Amino acid sequence: MITACGTGDSWLNLLYRRRRSRGRSVGPMPGFSTNAIHVGQEPDPTTGAVITPIHPSSTFAQDGVGGLRAGYEYSRSANPTRTALQECLAALEGGRHAVAFGSGMGASDVLLRVLLKPGDHVVIPHDAYGGTFRLVDKVLTGWGIEYTPADLGDLDALRAALRPTTRLVWCETPTNPLLGVADIGALAGVAQSAGARLVVDNTFASPYLQNPLALGADVVLHSTTKYVGGHSDVVGGALMTSDDELAQRLLFTQNSVGSVPGPFDAWLTLRGVKTLAVRMERHCDNAERIVEMLAGHAAVSQVLYPGLAEHPGHEVAAKQMRRFGGMVSFTVAAGREAALRVCAGTRLFTLAESLGGVESLIEHPAAMTHASVSGSALEVPDNLVRLSVGIEDAPDLADDLRAALDRA
Ligand SMILES: *Cc1c(COP(=O)(O)O)cnc(C)c1O
Repeated sequence: MITACGTGDSWLNLLYRRRRSRGRSVGPMPGFSTNAIHVGQEPDPTTGAVITPIHPSSTFAQDGVGGLRAGYEYSRSANPTRTALQECLAALEGGRHAVAFGSGMGASDVLLRVLLKPGDHVVIPHDAYGGTFRLVDKVLTGWGIEYTPADLGDLDALRAALRPTTRLVWCETPTNPLLGVADIGALAGVAQSAGARLVVDNTFASPYLQNPLALGADVVLHSTTKYVGGHSDVVGGALMTSDDELAQRLLFTQNSVGSVPGPFDAWLTLRGVKTLAVRMERHCDNAERIVEMLAGHAAVSQVLYPGLAEHPGHEVAAKQMRRFGGMVSFTVAAGREAALRVCAGTRLFTLAESLGGVESLIEHPAAMTHASVSGSALEVPDNLVRLSVGIEDAPDLADDLRAALDRA
């Protein structure tokens, strides 16, 4: 069992460690940004360094055989910088455990292989993240895993997709790129009463806007490459859960398969996470301004944003999210070619895949992020444009996008 401890001890770290070991909450917990800035990140006990050190060491000296000084022996098994990140991420999702990986897909792979064995069945969203679909459809089916895509915004669609062998329901909300909303609490009820677990890929919302464990999910997944890291400079992933037994299996598999983040990557992610709350507030402010502009533009036929009162998932989103996020999609009335021209015609919005960084990005899902699902049940409209609204000045962003729409 891996029992690596943190880099120092303060009331915050002790609070969380006690919470993890006792298996229950210990009363009112500190606020989101206090946790983001402090949990797992105590001043270094040997030097007083305020910022968590990057520990590049692959191995750790032992005082006699098996005499570990702080629980560390080899950095694939556990590394102090990674421990700091894991403790912080667990706190941000209100979970007792977090397990960090070298990418979001590394996290997904470990979770799927821990929870499913040959013959088992998983329900995935009908507009799942392309990489998740590829992993399930192209890799795991080769190992005897079966799957059904379903619209998880519709509980009857989920019930119809369930089989006696269903062990897992995989949910994203809001979804990518159509920004559909699924009711996490309701899905947890349906999944768990069928003997399946619910995992929520919370990448689009970030832990600041939505905490699925508190709503009944068994596991939360993040591609920390996106909002959590927030600066488009590091790839990573993480799983959070309050299930002690599952956490031990995830840690065991993390060590067994070795898909761990390096200490530099863990540190960069930890650096990003400190400002998550202020970034998310600004992402949301800016997204609202962009949605307003798009809704009034003649070249736009439909705006997809859970913050809009007419969005079919608005009420559920308002119930389970703090705000509605920085992702906005829209359709261009004149069709595919015009949508491609809009994507190529912005100056501030950079044409690129990925999302969640401080800079605004624009993309054409059918030709880019979702090209691999064309012709499948997961195909997306070809006049759809997806925005990751950054934290630049909103008027500049609105002007840039309006000009590209005017020209298209
Ligand atoms: C990017 C992303 C992933 C995969 O994460 P990587 O870090 O790229 O491996 C999974 N789910 C969602 C929703 C994503 O946006």
